[in-house]
Amino acid sequence: MIPVVALVGRPNVGKSTLFNRLTNSRDALVADFPGLTRDRKYGQATFEQRQFIVVDTGGITGDEEGIDAHMAQQSLLAIEEADVVMFLVDARAGLLPADQGIADHLRRLDKKVLLVANKVDGIDGDSESAEFYSLGLGSIYQIAAAHGRGVSQLMNTALEPL
Ligand code: GDP
Ligand code: MG
Repeated sequence: MIPVVALVGRPNVGKSTLFNRLTNSRDALVADFPGLTRDRKYGQATFEQRQFIVVDTGGITGDEEGIDAHMAQQSLLAIEEADVVMFLVDARAGLLPADQGIADHLRRLDKKVLLVANKVDGIDGDSESAEFYSLGLGSIYQIAAAHGRGVSQLMNTALEPL
């Protein structure tokens, strides 16, 4: 079976940027407008000769109504189908209540969850991401999806035998 890796998190944390990097595509909508990728989006990807499927999601804000509720529902479905969940947070924006809500959901699952602090380019990643330990999800993988930093290490861990 090809492993399925879901990218979840608040809007604007860099999920689509990471999706594009992993799939070598410019397909997923990347924008400064939060919540542009509204549905689940599947891509085929390969890391060091290992194939996997990556799922991009619209994002979870925690107080969804209307289209946001649909987005959040899509994220929950993506989490359900995934073998590995990458939970992205924004190291520049810091820890927000919506991150806490998502973490609460993920901690209850019996599933491999990797906590990923994105956008560590040009900042002190260690100190800016330290507060995310309070989410109770263990190790923090620091990446800069836009530049590729940390992505190999993240993928190595993601695709370790489950
Ligand atoms: P999504 O809503 O979670 O899919 O987030 P996007 O991938 O659309 O990215 C949101 C914004 O964050 C865009 O302006 C991206 O260019 C920016 N971004 C994504 N990754 C990085 C990164 O590694 N470093 C920085 N500085 N900005 C990033
Ligand atoms: Mg997106």
